[in-house]
Amino acid sequence: MRAPARERREVRVRGIVQGVGFRPFVYALARKHGLSGTVRNDAEGVRIEVEGAPDELERFVRALGEDAPPLAVVESVLWQPLAALGDGEFRIEESREGLRRQTLVLPDVATCDDCLSELLDPKDRRYRYPFTNCTNCGPRFTITRSVPYDRATTTMSGFTMCPDCRREYEDPADRRFHAQPNACPVCGPQVKLLDRFGHELHAKPEGPIARAARMLRGRAVVAIKGLGGYHLACEPFDEKAVRTLRGRKVRQDKPFALMARDLAQVHAICRVSPEEEALLTSPARPIVLLERRENTGVAEDVAPRQSTLGVMLAYTPLHHLLLREAGIPLVMTSGNNSDEPIAYRDEEALDQLCEIADYFLVHDREIYMRCDDTVVRIARGRSYPVRCSRGYAPAPLRLAEGFARHTLSCGGELKNTFCLAKDRHAFMSHHIGDMENYETLRSFREGIKHYCGLFDVSPQLVAYDLHPEYLSTKYARELEETGLPAVGVQHHHAHVASCLADNERSEEERVIGVALDGTGYGTDGAIWGGEFFEGSLEEGFTRRAHLEYAPLPGGSAAIRQPWRMALAQLIGLFGEAETLGLPLAAVRKAGERNVRLIARLVEHRLNTPLTSSAGRLFDAVAALIGVPGSARATYEGQAAIELELTANGPTNRSYPIRLRPEGDTWIVETREIIAAVVEDLLSGRPASEISATFHRTMARIVAKICDKLRESGGVNAVALSGGTFQNMLLLTQSTNLLEEKSFVVHTHRRVPANDGGLALGQAILADKQFDSANKLRADR
Ligand SMILES: [Zn+2]
Ligand SMILES: [Zn+2]
Repeated sequence: MRAPARERREVRVRGIVQGVGFRPFVYALARKHGLSGTVRNDAEGVRIEVEGAPDELERFVRALGEDAPPLAVVESVLWQPLAALGDGEFRIEESREGLRRQTLVLPDVATCDDCLSELLDPKDRRYRYPFTNCTNCGPRFTITRSVPYDRATTTMSGFTMCPDCRREYEDPADRRFHAQPNACPVCGPQVKLLDRFGHELHAKPEGPIARAARMLRGRAVVAIKGLGGYHLACEPFDEKAVRTLRGRKVRQDKPFALMARDLAQVHAICRVSPEEEALLTSPARPIVLLERRENTGVAEDVAPRQSTLGVMLAYTPLHHLLLREAGIPLVMTSGNNSDEPIAYRDEEALDQLCEIADYFLVHDREIYMRCDDTVVRIARGRSYPVRCSRGYAPAPLRLAEGFARHTLSCGGELKNTFCLAKDRHAFMSHHIGDMENYETLRSFREGIKHYCGLFDVSPQLVAYDLHPEYLSTKYARELEETGLPAVGVQHHHAHVASCLADNERSEEERVIGVALDGTGYGTDGAIWGGEFFEGSLEEGFTRRAHLEYAPLPGGSAAIRQPWRMALAQLIGLFGEAETLGLPLAAVRKAGERNVRLIARLVEHRLNTPLTSSAGRLFDAVAALIGVPGSARATYEGQAAIELELTANGPTNRSYPIRLRPEGDTWIVETREIIAAVVEDLLSGRPASEISATFHRTMARIVAKICDKLRESGGVNAVALSGGTFQNMLLLTQSTNLLEEKSFVVHTHRRVPANDGGLALGQAILADKQFDSANKLRADR
């Protein structure tokens, strides 16, 4: 019998295939199929030569895509025949020197099941070792100083591997082959427990983690150094402990997140759907917003007045050990003083947090990049992000079409993220934060520099928001002065574009873009935020309808004090004298002095711009009803969020919807809505019903305008974006109404609808606008 013919193939695998254990996987796979040859990384991904029986080769190639390691993302597997060499074995080759390595830096990955079982196995050499990791899990982005991603370029460079770790690291058959942060109790980082003066507490015999857990059970606040920064932890079932943390942190109402050991602990305090379970246990381990159960003992102050709790599962070995020792879930909130970014450097943390935390559980693995936790919820059965950061950044988003040039977009002011884009990839940054202080601006500037290095991007174009006072805009204008072309992109155009890119829509697809949010600078100098457009990524967007302009008395003061919006609306409707006489709680609470103040501001347009903002309309209604946050919002969007929470039960009622044409634009007369709300309040209808009616009215406005625009323009697809669409009631009702009318509805899935997703849309529109501006110039 003749031996079957041997064939040889060159196979190229592209995607996220480096630094994810792909070569050992190929090695094992080749041996399984009795193939000889080589595998190595190169500039384009992974290059394999394999030789053997044709049917084995076939199976091998198929398995490359289908059975790839958990962290790999295989975008393509292409092969071509080579002449057979008759080599006898399969080898992993070192990467060629001199080749520019294109290794994508991965997000941090939660502890895998294999590492967790080692962590809990008394016979394992890593038993209870809090820095256990492998090729399938562990820190990545937060410890990477530069590329190529190698131990020497991470904050693990100072730790020399012991012979055991070195052996694992060098063995292609080992789970820790080239795992850069590989470590063990003999050679790796160690934990310490400090008091708030920085003095080490000796924790024998229980150890620092067990002792920290014991202190947490005794009402202490403990700062814990995690993956991307410090958390502040306390016991969630103890009102006093939670109130202490709130008081010291100067954080009045904004909810705290919880960390749980396992799903069982989560189920005990929240209702969890299968989709939510999948999200909780995904390798990124985000905070998931879940419906909270009644009477679970979780202190009210953990999330005052909220119907949801933000919960995440333990995602580092340190967390696993701590939560096992504690035996209960823990409050785990960002380690910062109210508005500052999360602390991540040891000395800084001790300095910033010594007034808040009683103890510090720290370690000597340095965090290079700060990275807050990600927050996601499930909406209509799929992921709907609120904030994308740890575990998500800096994974590239794949887009439907490529960028003509390397583009940097600077994002907005609040919840800032920036974006670097090249070819068909957009690298959205981790959460930078509210650009209101020096520390955040520094982290923005350094972040951009870091990403440019990591992804080999040299911006040829910079995109910015039209608001001249945003620090991100000022930064872009500085770059422009150095000669870099810069393009301003309208805030809500960017929101709609972001939603389209998020859904990988083509650049020609025409849509109706609905952007509802708090604040964005309009092309007419007014503050926009209740906008309806028509257009596409390629041609840009035209404003076709918006909410009626209303005064924003005192500018940003009206955002912090939502009652101002209510008074301005009342004064506009009834006049100053009659407003004073209205038997409304909102007027009584504000007092005569404030009514007169707002009347003067509005009358003389003193620091009172006009706004079509949907967020401010929600604020006005929230203040009329009198939700707690309407006196003074202690976090962004608080009054509107509380208004959503007030809505109770379905309603068939709606407030009047009147549209008035103005040129080729439709104006939604919001005064009519306010008048109807006042009427309901005066006739004693409950707040829950008024809120529900208002939500239904807003959803019907969205559907009605889309209907009008479809009639005139024939466009059948709708993109919903902007921070107001973080309101689940509005999102769900709008989508349902639109789908009933057979619209195709695009909503966010990979980037947030709020300003955290803005940079993606900015980058795409700037790239297109720059092309068409050049074309115009060339035509002239
Ligand atoms: Zn692992
Ligand atoms: Zn070791």
